Amino acid sequence: MKIIRNGINTVAGPSEWFTGAVFVDAVAAPSEGSHLSASSVHFTPGARTAWHTHPNGQTIFVTEGIGFAQRRGGSIEVIRAGDRVFFEPGEHHWHGAVPTRFMTHLAMLEVDAKGNAATWGDHVSAAEYAAAPSTEEA
Ligand code: MN
Repeated sequence: MKIIRNGINTVAGPSEWFTGAVFVDAVAAPSEGSHLSASSVHFTPGARTAWHTHPNGQTIFVTEGIGFAQRRGGSIEVIRAGDRVFFEPGEHHWHGAVPTRFMTHLAMLEVDAKGNAATWGDHVSAAEYAAAPSTEEA
């Protein structure tokens, strides 16, 4: 057993992997004997990941706010606090906040044998992001 006290700094998501301001808190880190990686990812309004895949898939659980998720070839889906999404291994996708709200999700995955969590691709363009549905209340 090992207790990790609340002393790890929040880190900014790198601009190669994200558009807009994103902040990441570590929740679980892979180690000898465990492939689990988990992070609490805070997206500011309009911020989102680039397109990417995960070698063993990924579950995200929305803890706050309203966001979007999209798999390649699918439409942009609205996700809200309490929703969870599973992305299949190798499935191209992105996730992020809606333009007018923060979105925080817990991201959970198993790294591969080499410790890789994701393979990153192109940023989600403004035009791709603009295809999202409205989240205004009817
Ligand atoms: Mn992902």
